[in-house]
Amino acid sequence: MSRLSEGNVREDMCRLGASLFSRGLTFGSAGNISMRLEDGWLMTPTNVSLGRLDPARLSKLDGEGRLVSGDPPTKESFLHRAMYDERRQAYAVVHLHSTYSVAVSALADINTEDVLPPITAYYVMRVGRLPLVPYHPPGDLSLADAVRKLASKHHAVLLANHGPVVAGASLDAAANAIEELEETAKLFLLLGGGRLRLLTPEQVAALNPS
Ligand SMILES: [Zn+2]
Repeated sequence: MSRLSEGNVREDMCRLGASLFSRGLTFGSAGNISMRLEDGWLMTPTNVSLGRLDPARLSKLDGEGRLVSGDPPTKESFLHRAMYDERRQAYAVVHLHSTYSVAVSALADINTEDVLPPITAYYVMRVGRLPLVPYHPPGDLSLADAVRKLASKHHAVLLANHGPVVAGASLDAAANAIEELEETAKLFLLLGGGRLRLLTPEQVAALNPS
């Protein structure tokens, strides 16, 4: 990490965002990317498309998580902090609402301790065991605690009815792992999938849909 200047890190994050967006792995303003710096973190801002990130406007946070410069950070920054707090070796975190992973996260009969079967060796090597984090509504900070509980043992977790969060020792490692996860989710569904477990009526009502 010390070999990379902050300028390089900013450009790498924006390049990855554009690549994920152009390949349909993220859409709208969903998904977020972060990297650990020596003096804090860089995160993608809230309400911005990963396809149109500006290196100069990325959110820079200090060691306490306070905004130092750039636009306000993603509202999901607590997910990233939960990963970094539990994984000292993590230097990058990627979170997506990628379609196939979200589809798998809504299946009723999956093994919540290890969601996807070992379909390929690449999946096993890059992702390994993938626990399911129980559903929480957007912005519910208890989701951070739920992620924190699993993060010390798992660099990849799948949030139920939401999407994957993956940490890596580098931005490439995190990106490769989350892409492997997404492709394996796609394969799993192609191979049969399972019964749906949707949000309960109470969980839908709590969101106050119009
Ligand atoms: Zn999310």
